[in-house]
Amino acid sequence: MRIRPRAAGIVCALLCVGATALSTPAGAAGDGTGPASDTRSLSVEYFPGPHSEGRYTEVPATAPERLRKSGRSAPQNPELAPVSALQDSGPTDDRLDLVVMGDGYTAAQQGDFQADAQAKIEAVFQIEPYKSYRGLFNIWTVDVVSRESGVSGDPTRNTVKDTALSSYFWCADTERLLCLDTDKVSTYAAQAPAADIVFVLANSTKYGGAGYSDVPNTVGYDGIATMSADNAQSTLIGAHELGHSIGHLADEYTYDSYGRYTGPESDESNASIHDAAYQHEHQAKWWRWMGEQDPAGGTVDTYEGSGYYPLGLYRPTDTSIMRTLASDTFNLVGRESMIAGFYRYAGVLSSGVSTDAPVRWYTPLRVRLASLDDHGLAEVRLRWYVDGREVRSARGQRLVTPLQLGVLALRGRTHTVKAEAVDVTPALRDPAARKAATSSLTWTVGTR
Ligand SMILES: [Zn+2]
Repeated sequence: MRIRPRAAGIVCALLCVGATALSTPAGAAGDGTGPASDTRSLSVEYFPGPHSEGRYTEVPATAPERLRKSGRSAPQNPELAPVSALQDSGPTDDRLDLVVMGDGYTAAQQGDFQADAQAKIEAVFQIEPYKSYRGLFNIWTVDVVSRESGVSGDPTRNTVKDTALSSYFWCADTERLLCLDTDKVSTYAAQAPAADIVFVLANSTKYGGAGYSDVPNTVGYDGIATMSADNAQSTLIGAHELGHSIGHLADEYTYDSYGRYTGPESDESNASIHDAAYQHEHQAKWWRWMGEQDPAGGTVDTYEGSGYYPLGLYRPTDTSIMRTLASDTFNLVGRESMIAGFYRYAGVLSSGVSTDAPVRWYTPLRVRLASLDDHGLAEVRLRWYVDGREVRSARGQRLVTPLQLGVLALRGRTHTVKAEAVDVTPALRDPAARKAATSSLTWTVGTR
């Protein structure tokens, strides 16, 4: 289980099985937002400044009462919100589906939203390993129409805007914390063909954002990242939050007040109670990367302070995007976990030829590989096997027949043909991660 900050840990204990009703109304717990009719709350992460370390706090799951303008119907039926593909790279079952929606964009500003979504996505996908693995993503936009332009809390704390998702700065008394109504987000996310992760862009130039990693929802998504659309530094909030939801990474920053960690070994790949000597000796945690030059700077080692504890827990590098947004780079350990995470959602190999029914010796077996950046990190190899033996001459072939693979006389026997795609990128060293990066299809070759 992920180590969480103490305050949020209490929330998680209640929330990890779903939203919970607290004894005090959300909004009355010191966030200055006044009473709300909905008392569920959620733990969110935010970054008080563009170069700062993160913080966690508890916020209402839905919009506070003061943001609800009465008597006016919404300008749009959410179920009719237009959905388009910013990138449609394959079947949703084989892809990581990222849904992008905007808040504070009027009907006349939907073109602005599309441009902002495109720009934000391009910025996130400049960062490795997103860049090399973009082909494993589908990216959907949902055109969400708000009655007013801009969001609440911008430019001033008292600014109230009537927007579709009720986004607001000054959430929990914190200017840069950009919250929203997660139920409304879910309603719109349900319109996309699939949703694994949701980005919400607030129509604002003001720096801010938030990461919601445990949002109970029936749509199936694993997290919401909010960020201001027209602020370049807010992009890193989304990139960091996916580190949690996709890479299952720990925060590498610390709070002085936490002192020394004395609990069990962390489940997260980038936090450990063990120092470098122990990791080497026991082949534990990031021992495979120890001593390597790291793209985030310096060499991989054990740096004390991770998972909010300044003592007793180590991180792999001095800095990284999981420690501070002053860094825009995942360290080698984080990068490996991100890639393994991509492959938990997505597979690189697909085919239009069903594997459910036997194929004939002359059936063309055409396979498709996700289009990954092979000038970057990704390095996918395609191999073919007949009855478990590799047919080396068919390496890399995307179209073969069983006959071409050497399946000659069937005589009542059946054979199996397997196509296997393995990502042999040097960014994966853990055999378990490499296994996750392997996908295969198996056909039975029969006489009928
Ligand atoms: Zn974080």
